[in-house]
Amino acid sequence: MFKNKSDIADYIFKGESVFIGNTDQPISTSVAVRGNRIIEVGENLDHLFGPETHIIECGDNLVLPGFHDSHVHLMLAGLFQTCVNLQKAVSEEETAQLAKEFADSRPDDPWVLGFTWYHVFWENKRMPHKRTLDRLIPDRPVFLLNYEGHGAWVNSKALEICGIDKNTPNPEGGEIERDQNGEPTGILLENAMGLVSKFAYDLSEDMQTSMLRQLMVNAVKKGVTSICDMQPFIGTDLGDPKLYEKFERNGELCVRINITPEMTGNLEKVRRLRKEHNSGGVKFSGLKQFVDGVATTHTAYMIEPYTDDLNNIGSTVKPIDQLRDWIIKADSEGFRIRLHACGDGAVRVSLDFFEEAARVNGKRDARHTIEHIENIHPDDIKRFAELGVIASMQPEHLAMTETYKDNPYPEKLGLERIKLSWPIKTLMDAGATVTFGTDCPVVDLDPFVGIYRALTRVHNDGEPAGGWNPIEKIDMATAIKGFTQAPSYMEFRENELGTLESGKLADIVILDRNLFTTPVDKIRETKVKITMMDGKIVYEE
Ligand SMILES: [Zn+2]
Repeated sequence: MFKNKSDIADYIFKGESVFIGNTDQPISTSVAVRGNRIIEVGENLDHLFGPETHIIECGDNLVLPGFHDSHVHLMLAGLFQTCVNLQKAVSEEETAQLAKEFADSRPDDPWVLGFTWYHVFWENKRMPHKRTLDRLIPDRPVFLLNYEGHGAWVNSKALEICGIDKNTPNPEGGEIERDQNGEPTGILLENAMGLVSKFAYDLSEDMQTSMLRQLMVNAVKKGVTSICDMQPFIGTDLGDPKLYEKFERNGELCVRINITPEMTGNLEKVRRLRKEHNSGGVKFSGLKQFVDGVATTHTAYMIEPYTDDLNNIGSTVKPIDQLRDWIIKADSEGFRIRLHACGDGAVRVSLDFFEEAARVNGKRDARHTIEHIENIHPDDIKRFAELGVIASMQPEHLAMTETYKDNPYPEKLGLERIKLSWPIKTLMDAGATVTFGTDCPVVDLDPFVGIYRALTRVHNDGEPAGGWNPIEKIDMATAIKGFTQAPSYMEFRENELGTLESGKLADIVILDRNLFTTPVDKIRETKVKITMMDGKIVYEE
């Protein structure tokens, strides 16, 4: 029989375990791709076979939609992989020495950039001083971000370049640490980091290009074909959508990037971004803002005081009235808003904001999200589904310390409250859409780790036995949907991404095993055999 070229497939994936996304188990079927789309899914696709069709026999290896990470800080991740990691150093001197070695190895970098030093891990636990850096690196500016990303250590050259001296006032929401004479010590907290980061992180296009290239290599190796780039970082947006689009034009983009810049009271810039970036590869996705910090430093905003600090409920990072005004305004212009809220108090005010926005502006299919939700008050659980607010959670965060005995949450929040820590299943059962991400570079861009954690809820030492709040554990299909279907809905792209169905974009992954029959303790060893994005094979083992 003679066939029209338009009737044949470019690729046919034949598998015994294909997770198409709208069942709870993989099925034996085939998926045909032509151009950048899936053209048919079915048991027998011989009618689509032609001389140029590539048949990919997948056997029992799981075939599934490309992973979609809902919460990534793309350029920060790039910086982390290019700069010196200081986490292992145990003293101020050793940290500075590592920075110097790195500086010597990269003589052409205008700035010496490093991250994850933490005085809490040091022997004397004291904040460092600029003079230690000045002695080793006197002639180039140094900017070293700390472990939590809420403080930085800089040298005198950096202060000089940025015009910071004893007369510089503290910016709103930030502190330039000073000695008894008023001289800056080289420690910048919160928004004061912005005075320096705007110079230090003003990266050349060459550097950003090589970072982005490397990040995409890492992503497709893990089967990630879409991410949401959370751009706000200390009062600025990191990451340049124009550069992402250049990759797309050159055919180099192998991960779809949904961009989420900062929400402020001024929407001029983001209105323009929304208009300009709307392709299949680079798409404006919404706005992000912080409501609170994190519980480990008592900066998460709680309804009741911290168990280990009874006079403290944390606080919001900006006045509640200001946040409310910004949100109502952005919502009235149809922007989707994503709010960082770790504490139960921050989750509650975030829900209040969205409720108020719907009351003032009218209810619409807004798909606002709340990020992290490390803790929730029982009264607020049902409000997610009622208000149509999406819960965006990072399963790997629930086991941030190596061992369960070092998990700070029981001590900070008390045994009663932590029953609703990372309440994944509770929110799902209450009808909420729960979407997953990694928060890379806080943790690696690796969905298999997140899936493992969502299924087991144990730390790396296997504790606590049976999992932390085991009632919150979910099954494999639900975990995969959290990294595929739910994010595509969150991005308003459920009609083109998230499942393997005829007519959808061909973002397809083949693993080296069937996750549904893999023992849980082997999930993290999963490797990807093939990643296809937009109909092109972008990674092959
Ligand atoms: Zn984040």
